[in-house]
Amino acid sequence: MRAFWAVVLTVLQVSAFEYGLKPEKVNDKVYCFFGKPEVMDTKNNGNMVNSCFVDLGKHWLVVDPGPTFAYAKEAWNEISAIKKMPVASVINTHVHDDHWLGNGFYLSLGVDVLGAAAFEEEVNPTAVTRMEQRISKEAYALTSPKLPTILVEQEKTLQLHIDGVEIRLIHVDTKAHTSGDILVYLPKMQTIFCGDVVFNDRLPSLRDGDINGWIETLEMIKEMPVEYVIGGHGNEVQADAVDLTYNYLVQLRNEVRAAIETGEGIDSAVKTIKMSDFSSVALYAEMHGRNVETAYRMLEWGDE
Ligand SMILES: [Zn+2]
Repeated sequence: MRAFWAVVLTVLQVSAFEYGLKPEKVNDKVYCFFGKPEVMDTKNNGNMVNSCFVDLGKHWLVVDPGPTFAYAKEAWNEISAIKKMPVASVINTHVHDDHWLGNGFYLSLGVDVLGAAAFEEEVNPTAVTRMEQRISKEAYALTSPKLPTILVEQEKTLQLHIDGVEIRLIHVDTKAHTSGDILVYLPKMQTIFCGDVVFNDRLPSLRDGDINGWIETLEMIKEMPVEYVIGGHGNEVQADAVDLTYNYLVQLRNEVRAAIETGEGIDSAVKTIKMSDFSSVALYAEMHGRNVETAYRMLEWGDE
């Protein structure tokens, strides 16, 4: 027994880091912790991503458990103060580590984590994570990369029924933000969680994505009968929350295609395609030039 308490005390001490997380109510059933429109660093310690909870009646559903063990635990404590009930499942919307390094906390509670099959191919659980390299040791303490326990295959929609609520995990059938994006759709609640297919307060990063597939996926979401659209970054939650990402990617594709057609080289295109309407959006300076370059390389070959 003494050994048990020693372990408990050690865990409490090591995980003492606090983010000061506060949940925001999206609708009757949904609460989210909205991250800052920044890249991960030692100031935000990974609190630059969204993590959401759905009240299914007798259980919570977690959509993206956040960037660290400490974050997941703190978010869980805050949500438990709203309504005390167990977590049915945790869903990982995609492989970028700001969204899922909190898995370890929920696995320690014995909860299953669902994610795209891409995790198995693309994530090396023994490698040092981006998060570990960029945030403070205190915030990262107890975090280790834990992959989903249930994998969703590409081009499949997995239907879950929990507490009588239908939940559809739609594995996007094309490369969009990544090669394994999962949309979490709750038809009755007219709510969809889009992961990083939707950014609405900062520019998206095209680094691991495909501009054509991404636009196609956004067009599909725009056709869906939803009232609440929640992205992986940004605190807008209404149906037009897709507009920033959609408008940016469509304009980017048009301008890059025009550059390719007129024979403008990639270095010149990166300099001339400014898209100044978006220059006041967070992370423009960090992301835009690289997005032009990535889009150019994709469209140069893909549009032939
Ligand atoms: Zn991402």
